[in-house]
Amino acid sequence: MTTAATATGFQAVIGLEVHVELATRTKMFCGCRTDFGGDPNVRTCPVCLGQPGSLPVVNRGAVESAIRLGLALGGEVAPSSQFHRKNYFYPDMPKNYQISQYDVPICSGGVLEVTTSHGTTLVGITRVHMEEDTGKSLHAGTSGRIQGAEYSLVDYNRAGIPLLEVVSEPDIRSAEEAQAYLTELRAIVLALGISDAKLEEGSMRCDANVSVHRPGEPFGARAEVKNMNSVRSLGRAIAYEVDRQVALVQAGGTVVLQTRHWDEDRGATSTLRVKETLEDYRYFPDPDLVAVEPEPAWIEELRAGLPELPAAIRRRLVDAHRLSAEQVATLAGAGLIPVFEEAVAAGSPPVDAVNLLTNDVIALASERGFDPADLALTGAQLAELTGLVTDGTLSTKLAREVLGDVLAGRGTPREVVAERGLEQISDTSELAAICDEVIAAQADAAQKVRDGNRKAVGALVGAVMRATQGRANPRVVNQLLMERLDRC
Ligand code: ADP
Ligand code: MG
Ligand code: ZN
Repeated sequence: MTTAATATGFQAVIGLEVHVELATRTKMFCGCRTDFGGDPNVRTCPVCLGQPGSLPVVNRGAVESAIRLGLALGGEVAPSSQFHRKNYFYPDMPKNYQISQYDVPICSGGVLEVTTSHGTTLVGITRVHMEEDTGKSLHAGTSGRIQGAEYSLVDYNRAGIPLLEVVSEPDIRSAEEAQAYLTELRAIVLALGISDAKLEEGSMRCDANVSVHRPGEPFGARAEVKNMNSVRSLGRAIAYEVDRQVALVQAGGTVVLQTRHWDEDRGATSTLRVKETLEDYRYFPDPDLVAVEPEPAWIEELRAGLPELPAAIRRRLVDAHRLSAEQVATLAGAGLIPVFEEAVAAGSPPVDAVNLLTNDVIALASERGFDPADLALTGAQLAELTGLVTDGTLSTKLAREVLGDVLAGRGTPREVVAERGLEQISDTSELAAICDEVIAAQADAAQKVRDGNRKAVGALVGAVMRATQGRANPRVVNQLLMERLDRC
């Protein structure tokens, strides 16, 4: 919960509506392609432009994606559900209605388990329904928004692209839980492969319904906040909105049901419009579309074909490799579970693989401004690297350097080590000579060790390490020095 709400005795209540743009090849009700980019209005036809006499036909692939997501969330598939027309005027919606689902969605119920630093909670899923996307308005002018624009253009390439809307119960109690919910839902969508789910590019969009109340009292009126395009901005927008509502109620005001716009630069929400009520939309069944009645056998086939889902993968990794929940959460958050699993399959000790990934790979990725999962690191390379540490060829410090070179495309770990002459020196005769030199050069420190101060050997080990550019095996060096100083 946000601190402001807690401190004032208020509780935040949040429900999320998430839109997922499906990665089907064609649109929801016509054969136009769903590709991104290119010239405006080239992927359109009479159906998605809403021309009189054109007839929509449901995309089976979109129905399949909806059922798979509903099942993955633990919901029920309706034996029969219908498409309705949601009527409103907006220039980027050529039919003046959006085809959506209404009283009976394709899937209902289910639950999403979310874990935050405060523990694990279950968030109920109200429904998953199918609908079509709108086109896009482009406002010419400096701000890119409609206010102050010189003129506006409309691109209908996106009109009719299939969307799933996932509506949660108002079970979320903090910005952090909302962020965890969105992250988990996104991971499930990616595991199912039904969308690329990019918040920044709008293929996944999240509206937050936010209200505040005093525990024990009925829920307050909600504001629906739109336009957050990252997990981080979802958290910021909710925190802002909770504080705004608490301050408003404390000042004797009342929250009214409304739609608010999140402004990322200002870090604030502002009123967009008073929220439409259901009557405003004049929903009625679309007479051009038959009911969706998936065969029970098909549903069972889709259920059996579901992949292992993120929560189950995390549990399995914790159990199988004795990793901590935090380590697995870090791997999952960075999209590094596949590389980890490949490395372990290729013989890497799990602890070494997880340490290199969660410490070094993530740090290197952030230094270079990459998504860790986009780094060209294979499980086989990672296993080779941990192998070089285990067999004493590399120190952990040098392993990090080698990793940097591998990621820069300079070869496999073995190639980088050979090329740069980085092998750890464990050869006793080579190291013994260097130890003798160091003892001679640092007579004071050497005498302290002879006098029984074992810790003083650290300075000598450090000198040997410097003399070998960090390549000496510290364990061997320590032993050689102690032998020479009669402390064995
Ligand atoms: P609409 O289309 O009017 O926004 P939906 O049923 O699609 O209606 O979504 C309503 C959303 O608002 C759900 O996610 C629900 O959990 C949430 N919600 C309902 N009541 C409250 C409330 N008092 N505070 C916060 N969220 C709420
Ligand atoms: Mg809504
Ligand atoms: Zn079309």
